[in-house]
Amino acid sequence: MNKFDYMERYGYEQLVYFYDKTTGLKGITCIHDTTLGPALGGTRIWNYANEEEAAVDVLRLARGMTYKAAAAGLNLGGGKTVLIGDASKIKSEAYFRAFGRYVQSLNGRYITAEDVNTSTQDMEYINMETDYVVGLAGKSGNPSPFTALGVFHGIRAALKHKHGTDDVSKFTFAVQGCGQTGYYLINYLVEAKAKKIYFTEINPKHIERMKNEHPEVEFVEADKIFGLDVDVISPCALGAVLNDDTIPQIKAKVIAGSANNVLADEDRHGNMIKDRGILYAPDFVINAGGVINVYHELQNYNKVNATKDVEKIYNRLLEIFKISDEQNIHTQEAAKVFARNRIESIGKVRSNYIPRWNV
Ligand code: NAD
Repeated sequence: MNKFDYMERYGYEQLVYFYDKTTGLKGITCIHDTTLGPALGGTRIWNYANEEEAAVDVLRLARGMTYKAAAAGLNLGGGKTVLIGDASKIKSEAYFRAFGRYVQSLNGRYITAEDVNTSTQDMEYINMETDYVVGLAGKSGNPSPFTALGVFHGIRAALKHKHGTDDVSKFTFAVQGCGQTGYYLINYLVEAKAKKIYFTEINPKHIERMKNEHPEVEFVEADKIFGLDVDVISPCALGAVLNDDTIPQIKAKVIAGSANNVLADEDRHGNMIKDRGILYAPDFVINAGGVINVYHELQNYNKVNATKDVEKIYNRLLEIFKISDEQNIHTQEAAKVFARNRIESIGKVRSNYIPRWNV
C-alpha cells in the first residue's frame, strides 16, 4: 500500500513510527482527523505478521475513531496506536514508560487509553510519563456498563423508530455473548421487564453466571441465536456476524448490540439488512457509551454527567434513522453522513479566532 496515497484519499493527518532502543518498544500511532479536538484512541498490542499489517490496522482503526467520536458528540478527533509484539512477553513498567514519553512528545495531539491487550495498570505506567492518557484506575472505571447502557437506550430508540414505542416490556430479545457488555445489557433489559430474553454464550462460566442470576433468561445454542423468532437481535460478542449466512435467517425487525465491525461488508450487508426491512443500529454509534464515559475524564469526572451524555445515544440514533429514511441509504452510511456533517459544521464554526482563558 502506498501510505501517502491512502492518507490523501481519506484525509489522514499523521502516521508516526517509533522505536525505543532501551526497551525494544516498536509501534505506530495514527492521527486521522483533529478537526473536533485531540485524537483519542486506545493502544493495542498485537503480534502482527509484519509492519505493513500493523500500519493497515492502525490506519483503519484511527479513522473509525474519528467517526465514533464525531457521532458521539465529543470534541475529539480519531487516533489509535498499535504496539508490535507478543503481549505475554513484552510488557513491563519500562516498556510502558518509554511509550508514555513518546505520547508526551506528541504534545496533546493524541490521547491514549486501553484497548486489546492493554490494561488499567499499563495506563498507570504510561501516566507516569504523560498527561495524555485516560482510562485510569479510580477515575471513569470500567467502560462496559456504560457501553451497555448506551446499547440499552439505542435499542429503545430503534424500537421507537420501528414500532412507535420504546416500551421494552412489549418486546422479545436474543443476545449473542454475555461477557462484559452483554451481561450488563441483559441486566438492564431484565430491569426494564423485557417480555422474554434469550442468550447464547460459549464460555461456561458466563453461562453459569447468567443461569444463577437470571434463571428466567433462556439459554440457546450458539448456532440458533440468529434464527430465533424475536423482536430484537443484539450481537454483543464478535465482529462480522452479520453476513451472507446469518442475515437471511433473521426474523427480528431490529438489530442493535455492542459488537464492533459487526457487518462483514459494510455496504453489501448494510443494504441487505435494509432491503429485508430490518432496522440496524450502527455499531459505532450505539456502542459509544464507553468512550463517552472515558471522555469525561478529560474534564472533572462526574458519573451523573457521563451517564446523561450516554443517554443521548437515544436521540442521536433517531436522527440517524431519519437521515437513512430521507436519503434512502442504509443506516451505517447514514451514521457516517451524520458524523461527517458534524465535523464539517463544527470545523467551520472554529475557523475564526476567539481567545479563551482555558484553551
Ligand atoms: P467480552 O469478551 O467480555 O464478551 C464477549 C462474549 O462473547 C464472551 O463472553 C465470549 O465467550 C462470547 N462469545 C464469543 N464468541 C461467541 C459466539 N460465537 N457465540 C456466543 N458467544 C460468544 O467482550 P465485550 O467487552 O463484552 O465486547 C463485546 C463486543 O463489544 C466486542 O466486539 C467489543 O469490541 C465491543 N465493544 C465493547 C466495549 C466495552 O466497553 N467493553 C465498547 C465498545 C465496543
